Amino acid sequence: MKTPYKYVPFITPYYRQVRKMYRNFTYAGKGVYCPICNNDSKSWLNQEDAGTCPYCESQARHRLLWLFIEKHSQILTQKTKLLHFAPEECLKNKFNSLPNLEYVTADLSAPGVEVHTDITNLVFEDNSFDAVACCHVLEHIPNDSLAMSELLRVLRPQSTAYIQVPYNKNKPTDEDPSITDPLERARRFGQFDHVRVYGFDLKKRLESVGFAVSEEYYAHEIDSTLWKRYGLWDDVIFCCTKV
Ligand SMILES: [Zn+2]
Repeated sequence: MKTPYKYVPFITPYYRQVRKMYRNFTYAGKGVYCPICNNDSKSWLNQEDAGTCPYCESQARHRLLWLFIEKHSQILTQKTKLLHFAPEECLKNKFNSLPNLEYVTADLSAPGVEVHTDITNLVFEDNSFDAVACCHVLEHIPNDSLAMSELLRVLRPQSTAYIQVPYNKNKPTDEDPSITDPLERARRFGQFDHVRVYGFDLKKRLESVGFAVSEEYYAHEIDSTLWKRYGLWDDVIFCCTKV
């Protein structure tokens, strides 16, 4: 029998509590460590090298972004107003725990965020934020240059947007707006609702709207033993600064 949707918000916390107790038991161990929820476990949830945390469900890219921000950003230490578009639950909990942070979550329609707004037409005023986190969003947006311009607009000068996307540094961006069939999108772009796979020209696309862009391969700065223990990928973070 399907659970009526209206009961989901009431059931979810209890379900998560029971799941956590079960995972505390089944994943006890010291094989891997999640720097987001600070838990050791015997393995990742899906038993892969860089899989999902059994406790906070972070994935490799979330852990990489958190470690990068922890090391390189003022977000943790200075009074900062952060816009997190399409926030991941694991990072949302982490950011919410930082007392110096004025944290704003936004999404087109997802439940559990503060502001529902279109990334190509953000409701926020110009120069509103000291930082933006926007991860695995742009590959869903047909007019991605408009979305990039909006992220630039709402940032204050000298502030940075941290952007992650599915990315192939060895090829140009692959996109074709005429492909609307979900199965074909999944085959070609990796997911039914993706409209492209970004390639090496992404830096130029971000620069074309006015960002100063640095590509950060932060996992390279991390000791190989820790890389494995934290379950990281050789992934890039685009640090896009409003100059
Ligand atoms: Zn975790």
